[in-house]
Amino acid sequence: MAGYMLMSRLYAPTLKEDPAEAELASHRLLLRAGMIRKTASGVYSYLPLAWRSIAKVERIVREEMDAAGAQEVMLPILTPAELWEESGRWDLYGPELMRIRDRHEREFALGPTHEETITDLVRGELRSYRQLPVNLYQIQTKFRDERRPRFGLMRGREFVMKDAYSFDADAEGMQRSYDLMKDAYARICERCGLEAVPVVADSGQIGGDTSVEFMALAEAGEAAIVHCDCGYAADEEAARVGVTVSEGPGDGTLERVATPGLASIEDVSAFFGVPGNACRKSIAIIDGEGRPVVCIIPGDHEFNEVKAAKVFGDFHMMSDEELEGAGLVKGFIGPVGLPEGVALFCDISLKDSERWLVGANERDFHLTGARPGRDFQPVDWLDLTSAKAGDACPVCHEPLKEARGIEVSQVFQLGTKYSEALHATFLDADGKERPFQMGCYGVGVTRTYAAIVEQHNDENGIIWPVSVAPYEVSVLALDLNDEVWPIAERIAAGLAEAGVETLLDDRKERPGVKFAEADLMGFPYQVVVGRRGVRNGIAELKDRSTGERSEVPLESVVSLVAELVRERRR
Ligand code: ATP
Ligand code: MG
Repeated sequence: MAGYMLMSRLYAPTLKEDPAEAELASHRLLLRAGMIRKTASGVYSYLPLAWRSIAKVERIVREEMDAAGAQEVMLPILTPAELWEESGRWDLYGPELMRIRDRHEREFALGPTHEETITDLVRGELRSYRQLPVNLYQIQTKFRDERRPRFGLMRGREFVMKDAYSFDADAEGMQRSYDLMKDAYARICERCGLEAVPVVADSGQIGGDTSVEFMALAEAGEAAIVHCDCGYAADEEAARVGVTVSEGPGDGTLERVATPGLASIEDVSAFFGVPGNACRKSIAIIDGEGRPVVCIIPGDHEFNEVKAAKVFGDFHMMSDEELEGAGLVKGFIGPVGLPEGVALFCDISLKDSERWLVGANERDFHLTGARPGRDFQPVDWLDLTSAKAGDACPVCHEPLKEARGIEVSQVFQLGTKYSEALHATFLDADGKERPFQMGCYGVGVTRTYAAIVEQHNDENGIIWPVSVAPYEVSVLALDLNDEVWPIAERIAAGLAEAGVETLLDDRKERPGVKFAEADLMGFPYQVVVGRRGVRNGIAELKDRSTGERSEVPLESVVSLVAELVRERRR
């Protein structure tokens, strides 16, 4: 029995054309290479090549979890409604929770995550502080009825996740468990060949985070982040950063200047010959309670709606009618002389600035030299802007860079949220009943798999890192005659013997087809065996990641390739 796979037997229906529905490179390439197929919206089947790679991602995850002291379990996918009711999430989760009824009309949810189930599992049986810490994980299919399933595996309604849950006696223990998972997650990304940054997901202070998301950097990522070479990274929304602002024109006396028709920041900064960050942008909103509010932010930054919602509730931008109703002049709003009843809030970055260039609350006029305290007084100074490239890193003060990221995993300190709700307690050293300090940790296994493709591809197809490649080497037999075929077969057998995962392209296809499909499927190495080479005693070796081709003597090709593969396995 040969230890290699024949391409003629492989079930991998490739597509000649780009599928129209695929917006992302990963989605397009996984479909084209015959690796995944859509079964329903957000629901995919994994074909043999995909499943081999996903198994490797899972193996990496398992190795790192086990090394960190976690133990693998398997919880049910079917989770009873009563557990979700205990935590309050049966109602809170909303339509994302896939709910079903059994024949007795009992309600269940297909697990989207398992905090309730795991807490229920250990309560009453994990009893003593001496047993702690405990960290249990599983690799399982999860269900979330996403509002907009899209981008292939990136946002599915059914997907594979590794979820882990830690139980500790106190906050320090939870912190240790959390740190172990965070380190493991960084290694998982690295071993999968992902360039990822850990982004602080809560607005917690630097050095004391309670949740971190690992973002694989990719143009196609849904998350906007800022990051720095020093290692700092934050969500655009969470980031609290050093915004540089400039002073407006003038000597500091309040002056009214005619600016006919100049209603945009670009126009105003050009007219006064000052940079955008010397202008002040005014945002007029109606807050969650229906009150008119004006927010002033630096002219070169964007108003951050997520941050604003934390302060102003369910707010919305004022419509033209609402502006008029509040007595505000579109394009010329400013902090000085606001109409009665309009509350003023200013961005914290402007607190030390003394000469503001602002709208005059009068059509076709601006004010220069407006000064807080003297000319106006905000109700409060708040963090209202999105971070952007060039803002100072809060750790090292170097300019931040902007990037987009795919959230592949997240670590989270839960504290006693679920242990209290579900009454999961243990006895501490003094015999006192206490709720567990918990953490939860999720790796999107199938999203990680897609993110790898998103980061590793070119115009010809996928470029698998060796650690997660479906096969490590593809041997392309360009001829199937007696001269070439036995040699190609011998090389494939030799590689398999040496422990290399090998595919042998034995199809009656033109060389061009074999080359194109090997590139599309992204095997790290191709060994090309053709008539001319064989007559000269050589095979051609192609490294998919660099595109480099080299000629290798037939006798040494097996040992050389086996060596190269071993080096890059991680
Ligand atoms: P998102 O913000 O992208 O919806 P999430 O923060 O809700 O994700 P978590 O509850 O943190 O997701 O789940 C852990 C991991 O599971 C995520 O980091 C992600 O990699 C993966 N994941 C979550 N939702 C999906 C999905 N719909 N399809 C594929 N993977 C997902
Ligand atoms: Mg998350």
